[in-house]
Amino acid sequence: MIFIFLGPPGSGKGTQAKRLTALRGWPQLSTGDMLRANIQAGTSLGLEAKKLMDQGSLVPDAVVVGMIQDRIQNSDCVNGFILDGFPRTVVQAEALGNLLASKSLAVSRVFEFLIPDEELIARLTGRRTCTKCSAMFHILSAPPRVPGVCDRCQSDLEQRKDDSVEVISKRLKVYHDQTSPLVQYYSKKGILTTLDAVASMDIVEKTILASL
Ligand code: AMP
Repeated sequence: MIFIFLGPPGSGKGTQAKRLTALRGWPQLSTGDMLRANIQAGTSLGLEAKKLMDQGSLVPDAVVVGMIQDRIQNSDCVNGFILDGFPRTVVQAEALGNLLASKSLAVSRVFEFLIPDEELIARLTGRRTCTKCSAMFHILSAPPRVPGVCDRCQSDLEQRKDDSVEVISKRLKVYHDQTSPLVQYYSKKGILTTLDAVASMDIVEKTILASL
């Protein structure tokens, strides 16, 4: 089974992908995480991507398509995978379709996470991530027991550089301009399920599981 989690930043795609991985074993393939791993490792790809990510722009299609192409060769992808944050443009969606067709595969279902911009801004500006284990917290809705410290591994929490109000506004504009056309793209193929992403995490999860 191959799933796409499609939605603006902060809509809960990553959280739901992690839950589905835990329940069903399909790995979460997040191009954002892969790019951040490159930045952390100091690769030339990471250095190039960082400039674009810090300002809320997309990295070039060829870069992310190449990363996904490599990643899906891994043995953990044989029974399927969850694409989180990819594709983000029609060019990427076409490339993915061709890549999968060459392996006689196809996208099984696309979940659109529908949520108003105002809700996203509140969610993203309060988001904090563990610098070591990547656990996520929210200063209002899911605060850590000790402010600024990860509950799981006691490392420091940080605010992602691209979670500032200015960069979030840019990321939302990029989403509406470049990524939201994919809603129509996959709807025409008859494989789109739209979720109310304002609902609680448990309800969103139930809706996803019910439509598998
Ligand atoms: P995310 O963690 O998915 O919000 O991604 C963080 C940033 O990584 C985005 O704002 C983009 O700069 C970059 N990025 C992640 N996935 C893609 C993609 N599929 N296409 C282009 N840029 C991406």
